[in-house]
Amino acid sequence: MSYFSNIYNGIKSLLTGMGVTGKVFLNARKGTITQQYPENRETLKMFDRFRGEVVMPHDKENEHRCTGCQKCEIACPNGSIEIVWDRVVNPETGKKKKEIDKFVYHLGLCTMCSLCIEACPTDAIVWAQNYENSVYDRSYLTKVLNQPESKLMDGVED
Ligand code: SF4
Ligand code: SF4
Repeated sequence: MSYFSNIYNGIKSLLTGMGVTGKVFLNARKGTITQQYPENRETLKMFDRFRGEVVMPHDKENEHRCTGCQKCEIACPNGSIEIVWDRVVNPETGKKKKEIDKFVYHLGLCTMCSLCIEACPTDAIVWAQNYENSVYDRSYLTKVLNQPESKLMDGVED
């Protein structure tokens, strides 16, 4: 008797599996299947909350919003950020002011926790949505986020 019940159960589970496969097959045209990467590289857009890497936006005048306060560096739990800074004399006021020389970001150490972005008082750093970060040389994962010759936007204070 168990021989026939095993056959029955086998056919039943086969049909159940084929039913699931059939549903996915029929819905494939509605875009519910896994996307074909990397063929869709040109059109693939990650969702808004995706955390690709930390970046520092610059405007058309090559200005950023980073005052060098180091709050992001302090907030980072694993040393992914190093702020290299100096005090520079402001020619208008004659006073010395902190300025970043380099904002060094180690993507290879970053756990995407976002604590640095939350800690930043001037919204100087944000998430980028790029997702292709594989490299053959680990040193490429260390980046300087402030662009060459860039400077702090007027009016931004921490
Ligand atoms: S996201 Fe987290 S781990 Fe990455 S740099 Fe910011 S604080 Fe550090
Ligand atoms: S990114 Fe923000 S928190 Fe970090 S040093 Fe610049 S201003 Fe300060």
